[in-house]
Amino acid sequence: MLILEGLSKTYKTGDAALRDVSLTVPKGQIMGLIGPSGAGKSTLIRCINRLVEPTGGKVLLGDMDLVRLGKADLRRQRRRIGMIFQEYALVERLTVMENVLSGRLGYVPFWRSFLRKYPPADIQRAYQLLDRVGLIEHADKRADALSGGQRQRVGIARALAQDPELLLVDEPTASLDPKTSRQIMRLLTEICAERDLPAIVNIHDVPLAQQFMQRIVGLRAGRVVFDGTPDQLTHDA
Ligand code: ADP
Ligand code: ADP
Repeated sequence: MLILEGLSKTYKTGDAALRDVSLTVPKGQIMGLIGPSGAGKSTLIRCINRLVEPTGGKVLLGDMDLVRLGKADLRRQRRRIGMIFQEYALVERLTVMENVLSGRLGYVPFWRSFLRKYPPADIQRAYQLLDRVGLIEHADKRADALSGGQRQRVGIARALAQDPELLLVDEPTASLDPKTSRQIMRLLTEICAERDLPAIVNIHDVPLAQQFMQRIVGLRAGRVVFDGTPDQLTHDA
């Protein structure tokens, strides 16, 4: 479970990007984050893993406040959070399998022979994940030989290879066509349900959020202005 308490961020420029945001995301819940450009969606996601330093509030994952961690502890605790990105952030010259294993290693392997030195149990686990996202027959292809939808599946498998307690997903379908976007959203929602994982998905496509999210949170000028089900969003709008 993820709990945000009074999370705030004011950038050095004076922009108050988040103002006193409090949210609880229970296990297994996939929460869509919507709002106009500049509402604070990226800032919210980045404050959770501290790619952006919050200026106030708490980020509780389990019973640990991530905001209070020092640098060394933060590195370790970040492994509990799986990240999925709009542009996939794969290492293009490495294979699909190597990309997924990098999620488990926590660093990118520099030489291709590393597979032979890697524990067979972890390789087997990576194959299981590739099977789950429907890419097992592409395991040995270079990432740059895949379509966008396939790359995002690699991104999902890589995040899962960390055995995360939370998924943070930043505009996962912004570079994909509508049909592929729906496939990716369906995969994400199924995986969160299967693994009882909480997830926050920054999603600019409101109809897509309404179709797939159990819960939608709307941000505007750094504040939560909506928090409810997709049905409630339709009625309020
Ligand atoms: P969204 O993801 O909803 O488009 P952002 O979190 O990117 O919103 O931005 C929220 C606000 O914070 C905006 O006013 C934006 O200009 C400001 N902002 C974002 N990043 C920075 C930064 N690095 N420095 C200063 N201001 C920023
Ligand atoms: P998906 O729906 O899984 O994203 P697509 O229907 O887009 O897949 O692509 C079908 C096939 O075309 C895939 O096997 C993929 O390897 C290939 N393909 C699509 N786009 C590219 C690309 N930009 N570069 C290389 N191969 C591609």
